[in-house]
Amino acid sequence: MDKLLGKSALVIGGSFAGLLTARILSDYFEQVTIVERDPVHDVPESRKGQGQTRHLHGLLAQGLNILAGYFPDLMEGLLRGGNPLLDMAQSMRWYCYGGYRARFEFGISGISMSRPFLEWHMRQRVLALPNVSMQDGYAVEKLLISENGKQVTGLHIVRQGEDTDAENLNADLVIDASGRGSRTPKWLEESGYTKPEESTVTCGAGYATRVYERDVSLPGSFDWVFITPQAPKEYIAGAALPVEHGKWIVSLGGWHGHHAPADEEGFLSFARRLPAPDVYNIISTSRPLTDIATYKFPASLRRHYEKLVYFPDKYLVLGDAVCSFNPLYGQGMTSAAMQAAALDQLLKAQHSLQGLHTAYFRKIASIVDIPWQTAVCEDFRFPETKGTKAPGTDFINAYMNQVHRATHRDPAVGAAFLKVVNMIEPPASLLSPSILWRVLRSMVRGRTI
Ligand SMILES: Cc1cc2nc3c(=O)[nH]c(=O)nc-3n(C[C@H](O)[C@H](O)[C@H](O)COP(=O)(O)OP(=O)(O)OC[C@H]3O[C@@H](n4cnc5c(N)ncnc54)[C@H](O)[C@@H]3O)c2cc1C
Repeated sequence: MDKLLGKSALVIGGSFAGLLTARILSDYFEQVTIVERDPVHDVPESRKGQGQTRHLHGLLAQGLNILAGYFPDLMEGLLRGGNPLLDMAQSMRWYCYGGYRARFEFGISGISMSRPFLEWHMRQRVLALPNVSMQDGYAVEKLLISENGKQVTGLHIVRQGEDTDAENLNADLVIDASGRGSRTPKWLEESGYTKPEESTVTCGAGYATRVYERDVSLPGSFDWVFITPQAPKEYIAGAALPVEHGKWIVSLGGWHGHHAPADEEGFLSFARRLPAPDVYNIISTSRPLTDIATYKFPASLRRHYEKLVYFPDKYLVLGDAVCSFNPLYGQGMTSAAMQAAALDQLLKAQHSLQGLHTAYFRKIASIVDIPWQTAVCEDFRFPETKGTKAPGTDFINAYMNQVHRATHRDPAVGAAFLKVVNMIEPPASLLSPSILWRVLRSMVRGRTI
């Protein structure tokens, strides 16, 4: 334990953000308790409270780095799932803007797995810590507030599905990691505070996902396959990732109602309509192992806690509960991991928990800004998208069209692009003189280099 900041901490939600948060808090509190509404089992599972985990989840390099720092043996566990650690650019088969991005030696590796498998490995490691426990099957119903109304002192929890008395849990710090449906805005109002301002940008995204058998002896069976649209001309996307124990997870989807149907024939014909055949080839020749699951995501949603003047002490919010992005860009887990790592940095520098929320929400806002701008900027390519459009959006998108085309043959532009996608470098790095010059050269010549 680096430094003791209190006796006990509570985390609302035992999913990706909650688990990582609990891992971090275990360095600063004698006891950390995760309160999770769903019953949780010691297996890879998609629970009711996180239905999105049935769908394809890619973990960006920045997210993987952060996880590996907090769970040193995590990679070993993931590798035992059957997929190797592969160079991200060598293993990707990514069709966009009329061609495949060049494959080259990138030097940054990634691993693909299903979200339940990743979370199970995180959960095993978090719950093995001597000072962390999970109270699963309990829903948080409201916050406990001090008599003077200035700080959160604990949680009022209720056992799910049983007619038992509610319980109160006291803590020195409470963190809400209960996902997009977080009730913090409502709880704040109930406690006499104002709820945060919200930004929404519509995307009308829809996923349809099925798992297939994967013959690992076939060439290309470890490729990460992405087919993304040339917006706004095209609205649909498809992806297939090799996941543990010889399986493909295939997600088809699109923007603004262009969703794949959940019946066999409709799913297949949607895949056939994609601008490249790779996903269709996989699903038309592989044995399905599951039904087709669907998920709708109407809009990216951001809660501006950083703008609140009054906020109770000893209470923070993290992960999708702060910001949930159009999932088609794969940023949610990495954003949560970056927020958790920032919390760790703040706690390291802290001697008391008093007033922590001000610095915390300011920091979180700066972290979330980048993936938020990237996601909504892309979504504004579609005329149906509604929300606040930042100045310069159309210019950035026009430039990005040229970046995409340049990635078809120029590995230098490809590497710069992948660093941005993986949240290793900021988007502004694509405007550095060397990249700008290469993109302009490819544009002027009317072909990529
Ligand atoms: C279709 C889809 C695909 C996605 N693909 C990707 C991807 O490729 N890459 C990526 O990085 N991200 C992806 N995401 C985003 C990713 O799923 C989220 O960013 C991530 O799950 C956020 O984790 P979280 O812990 O904040 O919230 P969640 O995972 O939503 O978990 C919230 C938890 O809180 C619990 N809970 C809720 N209310 C209460 C309560 N009152 N009391 C107790 N417990 C409660 C829930 O049961 C749940 O376990 C995708 C999202 C969707 C919708």
